[in-house]
Amino acid sequence: MNWTGKRVVVIGAARQGIALSRYLAQQGAQVVLTDARAADELAEARAALAGLPVRWETGGHPLSLLDEADLVCPSGGVPLTIPLVVEARRRGIPLSNDSQVFVAAVPCPVVGITGSAGKTTTTTLVGRMADQAAKLGVYRQAFTGGNIGRPLLAVLDEITPEDITVVEFSSFQLELMTVSPEVAAVLNISPNHLDRHGTMDAYVAAKKNIFLHQRPTDALIVGIEDPQSLRLAAETPGRVFGFGRTIPDEMPGAFIREEQIFLRGESGEQAVMPIVGISLRGGHNLLNVLAACALAEAAGLPVKAIRAGIEGFGGVEHRLEFVTEVDGVQWYNDSKATSPGMTVTAMQAFSEPLIVLAGGRDKRLPWNGFAEQARRQARHVIAFGEAGDLVAGAVRKLDPSQDVLGLTRCASLTEAVEAAAALAQPGDVVLLAPGGTSFDEFTDFEARGQRFKELVLALAAKEKKA
Ligand code: ADP
Repeated sequence: MNWTGKRVVVIGAARQGIALSRYLAQQGAQVVLTDARAADELAEARAALAGLPVRWETGGHPLSLLDEADLVCPSGGVPLTIPLVVEARRRGIPLSNDSQVFVAAVPCPVVGITGSAGKTTTTTLVGRMADQAAKLGVYRQAFTGGNIGRPLLAVLDEITPEDITVVEFSSFQLELMTVSPEVAAVLNISPNHLDRHGTMDAYVAAKKNIFLHQRPTDALIVGIEDPQSLRLAAETPGRVFGFGRTIPDEMPGAFIREEQIFLRGESGEQAVMPIVGISLRGGHNLLNVLAACALAEAAGLPVKAIRAGIEGFGGVEHRLEFVTEVDGVQWYNDSKATSPGMTVTAMQAFSEPLIVLAGGRDKRLPWNGFAEQARRQARHVIAFGEAGDLVAGAVRKLDPSQDVLGLTRCASLTEAVEAAAALAQPGDVVLLAPGGTSFDEFTDFEARGQRFKELVLALAAKEKKA
């Protein structure tokens, strides 16, 4: 694509918008970057683009920006229903975004990953496998990023045809895509982000862009155990790979046989490693590992690299992350569990007696499934933060006298950790898997997980002294 002289309006001056503006300006485009925030709130973003010919339009998105626009690029967080986007569509101005620009321009194969849950874990795993393949000389270098880590547009000029890129895509990024990666996975589909996409159909339609523009030689990886993901197999123009504990006999992909991970591909079947060699906990993570294996197989990575990528991988920070053991009690941080369903998934990864810290800011999702699972598995729920009353209410409804399941209500995460420390006995697992977002107390789930770890490590330090 020749960007010289192209007039592009980029909406949203956060990570993606900044990376895109920088890239386009360097390529000779005339970029206007617009953000609803006032100029004084954007000092950092402005500094990041200092010296580049990017025009700023702050404090709103005037429709007049469209008068001289060849292309409009909304950032992932920008709803496509804002007047500037609606009007751009009405005027027939093409829409694009950073992901599309990246995939269209990158000179090497792209492995793309989307889904409702497990994207970051799976992307990180495939990235590790690709790094190992690069070490073996299969590629010059592997680049991993996208919705996680660094925006890959920032390093596009370093990427050569001898490389491989592994990219996480959110449904927001996919919404506008008209190009697809060579190898793509839709891990699973459950109701999520319906606030943005409106209907389940719109959410699924956005995700489909990860494969709809593939060629027949490209590959789509679907989750055999997820009916919504599996259904997509019929719609791809490319080859289909599956992952799951079992997969259909003729289908290439990754599956379990006799407690081992197996790959099936063009060169037949081969064992990767025993599942006891996986350090990640939980059935959901086993599926993430299988998904990563199927993606790697479809991309043609050697089994040695696939195995080495899995070995020693303990997971991504804030996702069922082991923090430490204090007094025989293991503490886990799953701050990323921001819906009650994810909290259920997290609990299912343990067989130990559980003390669960749940709460945060409610997303208006029901808590009864959480309460049922907690009654089955936990010995105590500590309900904290803004959603604490909803969590406590769901538990009380199931177990009014709290015979089975203990319940404590705390205002903050700090209090919740103190309460857990007082209750925990050797052999217990204390699990932060809030089920709500972090925004009642923190800027994001990372800040919440970080605080949790600090509090737990402070307990550990106290314990050591005593
Ligand atoms: P994403 O990037 O899609 O948000 P992550 O890998 O960051 O996914 O995991 C986020 C949370 O989602 C985890 O903490 C866990 O609770 C849940 N999760 C991860 N993988 C799966 C899966 N395959 N199926 C269901 N839930 C999952």
